[in-house]
Amino acid sequence: MPAARPASITGLEVLDIRFPTSEELDGSDAMNPEPDYSAAYVILRTDASDGCEGHAFAFTTGRGNDVQAAAIAALAPYVVGRRVDEICSDLGAFARGLVHDPQLRWLGPEKGAIHMATGAVVNAAWDLAAKRAGKPVWRFLSDMSPAELVAQVDFRWLTDALTPQDALELLHRGESGRDERIARLLESGYPAYTTTPGWLGYPDDKLTRLAREAVADGFTQIKLKVGASLEDDIRRLDAARAAVGPDIRIAVDANQRWDVGPAIAWMRALAPARPYWIEEPTSPDDILGHAAVRAAVHPIKVATGEHIANRVVFKQLLQAGAVDIVQIDAARVGGVNENIAILLLAAKFGIPVCPHAGGVGLCEMVQHLSMFDYVAVSGAIEDRVIEYVDHLHEHFVDPVRIRDGRYLAPAAPGLSAQMLPATLKEFAYPDGPVWSARV
Ligand SMILES: [Mg+2]
Repeated sequence: MPAARPASITGLEVLDIRFPTSEELDGSDAMNPEPDYSAAYVILRTDASDGCEGHAFAFTTGRGNDVQAAAIAALAPYVVGRRVDEICSDLGAFARGLVHDPQLRWLGPEKGAIHMATGAVVNAAWDLAAKRAGKPVWRFLSDMSPAELVAQVDFRWLTDALTPQDALELLHRGESGRDERIARLLESGYPAYTTTPGWLGYPDDKLTRLAREAVADGFTQIKLKVGASLEDDIRRLDAARAAVGPDIRIAVDANQRWDVGPAIAWMRALAPARPYWIEEPTSPDDILGHAAVRAAVHPIKVATGEHIANRVVFKQLLQAGAVDIVQIDAARVGGVNENIAILLLAAKFGIPVCPHAGGVGLCEMVQHLSMFDYVAVSGAIEDRVIEYVDHLHEHFVDPVRIRDGRYLAPAAPGLSAQMLPATLKEFAYPDGPVWSARV
């Protein structure tokens, strides 16, 4: 009998999935008044006998999905036909190969739609590899040796702040107490905070009702969108503070609304209500601007990251002392590999990581990265919280589970990014029934 042919990637399918969330103002903020949460969704199909597929997506807010889906489709020739075992056994090489393609890199390097497309495909490959290993991604990562983890990271442009040797030492330190942390995670999960009460489009009575419900549900931090009207922000923040009491942390998020001077003035006006952090006060590219805001608004913390294009910008934010909180996003940078680099950078600088999530499916994916960080990288959980928004989880095969204000560790193999088959049909844009009924 001839030897069995090794399994290969037989297809890279791209789906344009959109949710009409703008109709309820869910997700509304000072810069995104009417987002339709969307996923440029990718499926890696194989001819392996295990039947596993890799699922992941880039997150956008509506019309951007046209560009994002096209960018992902452009990567198909780099993936289809390749051997599954080669990709899954060296995801670091796979990610670097996509990032450094000599022609596509002109579009970045490592920023914008092409980089997010790389992130989606790389994340789908991690989903596939973890499913083949029968583990959730957080556990798949946590079971890797320090040397295997270092091999996942592209250290290009990082070595003035973090060398492979630094990373190796950090990860070796992270080995002590690892089993206890896994046990703790499985027992009580990872802390969350909720943005559900604080969308800018919500009236005050809805804000205070949802804020009280969040506290009753066990959350110790909520977040409010700010930045459209100072008068409204002062009133809303005071109302939220009155609703939750003095001990609950209230973060605020300006979604890049301000220049540096106005950011400082606005936050000084909000200071009496004791906001815990100001998120995205200004442009995500403005490292020195963040540093200036941070120096001026202390003790209010400065947080950013959901729009940071890549690890090099995170490196500079940390080197410049520009942030108190690093907010990784599972679908912004070049996938799991680049987020490992960012987790290592944050650990090197001793800055807590509090991921951005929400949207659609971002909670599902990013929880794996925080849990891995706790088990194997920073080893810390104090002052760390994963954003949680109570939207659209019903569309996932393995949705997040929240108990007493904490994410429970996912148990199903993969990255938890896979949507239900019915969702992929109904919300397909523009021909799925949800959208064809609206046109
Ligand atoms: Mg935000």
